[in-house]
Amino acid sequence: MSPRRNYPKGRRPKDEERDIATSNQTIEEHTDGDFIVRKITGSSSNKPYRCPGCDQVIPMATPHTVAWMIGDEDGRRHWHNACWAKRNNRKPNTERTRNAPRF
Ligand SMILES: [Zn+2]
Repeated sequence: MSPRRNYPKGRRPKDEERDIATSNQTIEEHTDGDFIVRKITGSSSNKPYRCPGCDQVIPMATPHTVAWMIGDEDGRRHWHNACWAKRNNRKPNTERTRNAPRF
């Protein structure tokens, strides 16, 4: 008859204590490291950025993705959602290098 209640009631996940600015932030594992990924809504995008994926400008008020390697917040980049997803899907086995020299 030993008590099995090891879970105190009324305990809440810490996530609820975080402010709203980080609530849409996730960590993604990539082959070149772990990235912090934040989804930006159109209303919080108040200036244009250049996307490193396609080298096109992301107009202001456009929902997009901000990502940086953990510990390198200064190196964060703004990506189109689609460009970030493409980068994410890239795998060594499926990547085709069109410009690679052939023998
Ligand atoms: Zn892009």
